[in-house]
Amino acid sequence: MPATPPTEIPISDLRADLNGKVIAPEDPGYDDARGVFFTGFDRRPAAVVRVADVDDVSRVVNLARDIGAELAVRSGGHSRAGHGTTDGGIVLDLSEMNAVDVDAEGRTAWAQTGVKAGDYTTATGAHGLATGLGDTPTVGVGGITLSGGIGFLVRKNGLTIDDMLGAEVITADGELLEVDDERHPDLFWALRGGGGNFGVAARLRFRLHEIDQVVGGMLMLPATAEVITGFVAAAEEAPEELSAVANVMKAPPMPFVPAEHHGKPVLMALMAYAGNAEAGEQAIAPIRALAAPLADMVKPIRYPEMYEGPEGPRPPLAAGTNMLIDGLADGSAEAILDHLETSTAMMAATQLRVLGGAMARVPDNATAFAHRDAKMMVNVAAMYQDPSDAPEHDAWASSLVAALSDGQSSAYVGFLGDDGEEGVRRAYPPVTVERLTEVKRQYDPGNLFRLNLNIQPAS
Ligand SMILES: Cc1cc2nc3c(=O)[nH]c(=O)nc-3n(C[C@H](O)[C@H](O)[C@H](O)COP(=O)(O)OP(=O)(O)OC[C@H]3O[C@@H](n4cnc5c(N)ncnc54)[C@H](O)[C@@H]3O)c2cc1C
Repeated sequence: MPATPPTEIPISDLRADLNGKVIAPEDPGYDDARGVFFTGFDRRPAAVVRVADVDDVSRVVNLARDIGAELAVRSGGHSRAGHGTTDGGIVLDLSEMNAVDVDAEGRTAWAQTGVKAGDYTTATGAHGLATGLGDTPTVGVGGITLSGGIGFLVRKNGLTIDDMLGAEVITADGELLEVDDERHPDLFWALRGGGGNFGVAARLRFRLHEIDQVVGGMLMLPATAEVITGFVAAAEEAPEELSAVANVMKAPPMPFVPAEHHGKPVLMALMAYAGNAEAGEQAIAPIRALAAPLADMVKPIRYPEMYEGPEGPRPPLAAGTNMLIDGLADGSAEAILDHLETSTAMMAATQLRVLGGAMARVPDNATAFAHRDAKMMVNVAAMYQDPSDAPEHDAWASSLVAALSDGQSSAYVGFLGDDGEEGVRRAYPPVTVERLTEVKRQYDPGNLFRLNLNIQPAS
């Protein structure tokens, strides 16, 4: 994304009007405030505004629109393209808007979008209830939900958006809209998978499921081609209660990994069986049986514990992409292992997620996320430090993607980077794009919300 020229931001006016906090370049904490999850994005916003309420959100939206400032909307800051920060523009940072109101009897919750996935899950978990989010506790509920949300409950309950019941959205004209199936249904459809294109979601309302105990945790196996194909086959065969996220990578030098396996290929699977403990053990047994585990931490736990455990160091930059495919073709597992050997990245991983189940039962046209029949998501990533090494890691990722894609090009918007029109074509079928551009024309005709996988307003 090219840097925009610095905009003259009336910082003192902004401060005077605000209930939250403005952090400008000369303020303490600016360097922390401008940074995002991927530490390699070295951008310098004119102001980071930690909004406190919807009035603040409206003020910032109105200001950015009126003065033509580039506007970065940030919940958890995990965008692979660094869309949560900007050079010279304004960051609307929702991290202080992080309340979760649980209606335990009604089985619903309202969440302010700056809350992190782990904190949301802890809050609902206090009532033995859950909404499926992703695999990482620090991802923002705002960003993941608007992308779709593929996590530990995807096969049992569907995507996060399948549990989204409503939203409060501040659109480009600064107005707060109540959005659901009946009020602005077109916008409600677009929010469920269309990303941050249509406004700032301040609060989201979710359905909650009675999920307290799961059989879950991490299982690490030595990665051979047989283990990789066996894992995918077993995950496909498993009951829908089981969802798993497996990374094929080099074993980190963690204390629980036997020293002789450090740096060797492993399949590290995070799994959750949302159901009866005995049935869970049975469902996971075929995966455990693929090889003698190097680490086996899968056991009956409370669901929020899926998000506990040490967080690794934040990566500077990531090359790669994701693809939605029918399955692993012959030779794919070998290609994954060969590429793992040739990567010069700080960390390279191929992530495998078997989908289906409840996610696949929602009609394609019910939400902006339309790739409902995708059988698997594969995520290829190479983490690296030096921006000048990008071509090498991009070429590595492209080579692996070519080997695995089987001619298919669909993708999940949540794991795309700065992919432009090609990304839009991969994330949405043509009929969805057409509908999204029409909703964009209606709610953001000036394309104020453009730091995202950008949908152009219909002309
Ligand atoms: C380590 C890691 C693990 C991940 N794991 C998963 C996973 O398991 N499952 C999954 O589905 N995805 C996963 N993702 C992808 C993630 O869901 C997306 O990158 C998501 O957009 C990040 O949301 P965020 O709020 O943290 O990021 P941000 O950078 O804050 O937001 C990303 C974009 O979303 C939009 N946005 C965010 N909040 C709002 C809002 N309140 N209103 C309007 N627009 C908004 C903006 O366009 C923004 O640029 C992962 C990403 C990372 C880096």
